[in-house]
Amino acid sequence: MAEKVAGPEIEKLVQLLAKLPGLGPRSARRAALHLIRKREELLAPLAEAMRVAQERIVVCSICGNIDTSDPCTICRDARRDGSILVVVETVADLWALERAGLLNARYHVLGGVLSPLDGVGPDDLAIASLVRACSQCNGRWTDDCALHRRCAVAVRREGDASRPRRAGRW
Ligand SMILES: [Zn+2]
Repeated sequence: MAEKVAGPEIEKLVQLLAKLPGLGPRSARRAALHLIRKREELLAPLAEAMRVAQERIVVCSICGNIDTSDPCTICRDARRDGSILVVVETVADLWALERAGLLNARYHVLGGVLSPLDGVGPDDLAIASLVRACSQCNGRWTDDCALHRRCAVAVRREGDASRPRRAGRW
């Protein structure tokens, strides 16, 4: 069994970093060492940014995005085309589309996809708020509503085993 080379505070830092996506124990230890070496210019500002983010992050009550204000920056943006509502599975999908800069639309985050095998049903997804958000039919799910016909396509069943996802808002 490997000996511990640092005190419990540093070991805890390494263990927490190792929980981040893409970081295993070795890369987490390297990241911790880098942070410690750059304590003033990186570790302290990072800790402060994380503290502030932890205090201020909220879920947008309109679209489900995460931001530091509710409604979020996108929902407050009057320049957005309100006639286009892009339904996405997760906030990560929303952020990826925004980074691509291809759309000037509004969004709705479902929080997952229907997956009966994983026990994810319609009640686990943000579908009710999607229906309420529809300006075309004022929340009534009708066959005449073009937006809801498009949503029905977006709310697809989970059929691709290579992308297992559980319902989760983010
Ligand atoms: Zn929003």
